[in-house]
Amino acid sequence: MSTFSELGLKEEILSALIDMGYETPSEIQEKAIPQVITSTDDLKAFAQTGTGKTAAFSLPIIQQIDVENSNVQAIILSPTRELAVQIGDQIEKFSKNIRGLKVVTVYGGASIEDQTRKLNRGAQIVVGTPGRTVDLINRRRLKLGNLQWLVLDEADEMLNMGFKDDLDAVLESTPETKQTLLFSATFPREVEAIARNYMHQPVEISAGTKNTGSDNVSNEYYVVTERNRYAAIKRIADVNPDIYGIIFCRTRRECQEVSEKLIADGYNADSLHGDLSQAQRDGVMQKFRNKTIQMLVATDVAARGLDVNNLTHVINHKLPDQNEAYTHRSGRTGRAGNTGTSIVLVTNREVGKLRPIERKIQKKFIKKEVPNGKEICEIQLFKLVEKVKSTEINTEAISEYLENIYTQFEGLSREELIQKFISVEFNAFLEYYSKANDINDNRPARESDDRGKRRDDENMSRFFINIGRKDSLTPPRLMGLINDQNITNNVEIGQIEILDTFSFFELDKNFEKETIDAFLANNPEFEGRSVNVEITKKRRSGGGGGGRGDRRPRRDGGNFRGGDRNDRPRRDRDNNSSDFKGRRRESRSGGASRVQNKSWGRKRD
Ligand code: AMP
Repeated sequence: MSTFSELGLKEEILSALIDMGYETPSEIQEKAIPQVITSTDDLKAFAQTGTGKTAAFSLPIIQQIDVENSNVQAIILSPTRELAVQIGDQIEKFSKNIRGLKVVTVYGGASIEDQTRKLNRGAQIVVGTPGRTVDLINRRRLKLGNLQWLVLDEADEMLNMGFKDDLDAVLESTPETKQTLLFSATFPREVEAIARNYMHQPVEISAGTKNTGSDNVSNEYYVVTERNRYAAIKRIADVNPDIYGIIFCRTRRECQEVSEKLIADGYNADSLHGDLSQAQRDGVMQKFRNKTIQMLVATDVAARGLDVNNLTHVINHKLPDQNEAYTHRSGRTGRAGNTGTSIVLVTNREVGKLRPIERKIQKKFIKKEVPNGKEICEIQLFKLVEKVKSTEINTEAISEYLENIYTQFEGLSREELIQKFISVEFNAFLEYYSKANDINDNRPARESDDRGKRRDDENMSRFFINIGRKDSLTPPRLMGLINDQNITNNVEIGQIEILDTFSFFELDKNFEKETIDAFLANNPEFEGRSVNVEITKKRRSGGGGGGRGDRRPRRDGGNFRGGDRNDRPRRDRDNNSSDFKGRRRESRSGGASRVQNKSWGRKRD
């Protein structure tokens, strides 16, 4: 292994690297730096995110910049504003001891006039997003006639994001003599085409294997039904109280839904997607970087520019549409020498989709079981013990009460005292998870039916209710009615069938008695009718059989899957929106993913 000095870097750069804590070069730096310093050949580099590629292309360029000449000598194109800003910042740090070296970063969504002014003052290095760069070139505010280096960073991602025309435009408006450095984590056809069309016999280097995931990442999967995806995320967060990760969703809507549920359930989460304004994005990113947010729910594109090295987890709420994207997602963890876990939630039918990804990343997925209530309680219990141990005592504030407190605890042994204090919270944990179902879907694939049409869920009991469509009952109104009975915290609601004059609903079998008792005690009315609920036999798959449960629904009888009630924010009962904010703030300081204390026992999956 070489040192930075052996790679041929000059003193001004070496001293800056020491200040930045860079001791030894990474593999891609070891290969790229001497190559670009000693040769003007084009370079094609296979490099994942997090491998140190920014320094790999920046340092040899900084080394060779002519500071006496204020023309643009190098341009670095990157897919997102965030990444461009990070690269610009890094270059400033690398070159802080080189007088006269200037870098300007240009990107959309910010004043083009300001950027033009900075360019007019002279800059040898420009970092830009493709769209704004082309805009500035077209307006003749960015002049690339003296360009010597063109870097395409994350070329695959720029093409994925639809910047092909912009890249073509930049490549065509720069001198033939320039040296082109192309960095990409993957080399699909489109990237190869860029290399073929615009590069001259490039030298190829690679850090790590092509198209593979990082060795530092453990790839795991959990098999759950469609409606338990969210519950699984919560349990994963609960057994990893210090989780710091990204939950990837395919669409903005999915992103929004998952993050809203997490926030409503008291987790430190927020979302990052294309519907946010730049100021909102910056705010979310800032909160994530300083760990105010532990779980960032993001779309693939939105998460690209995020440079965070110590993520513990990446969670794939759903698999990406393209296998290629899995490498990008999982590569967000296990960076800069850290280890990480990439988790995929799949339904029984989707397990087969893991195989092609395994071939691509050249690693096997490990099947994991969604933790049960006991496992979660145990982890949270010891988290609590740790918290008690590390709590600082405010002697001044507490001293005046101590005498009285000691008197009150007189007669209790040390063991009893500890047990009592711990039980104050642990009893709530236990209650919260005591009836938590196993949400692993271990049925053979053909038996599972995620659409829930004729699903016979043995964890559910079926109830008859004497109101129906003629009473203006709808599935959401029925769910509201059930919620209003305060049966227990977050009882799970299953299938709902609304018929003309009566209806059926399924509820967690553990709460049969509580359900009947609650309706009896509350004696609710609905549209002027007294409501009566009875337990009934479950409808057999395929129909038939006796009892109330076998009254055949009309063909158009509204069949609605109520879903996991826990999946819904419960603003109606024990929350209101201002309360959410207060509780989120409260949870930050606690460090645990779930809001401490009282929130336990509120929501059960
Ligand atoms: P990059 O792949 O360029 O985004 O780098 C990933 C992270 O690793 C950044 O935070 C860099 O500051 C850091 N890094 C890159 N190279 C080194 C190095 N040789 N030593 C220590 N940290 C590094």
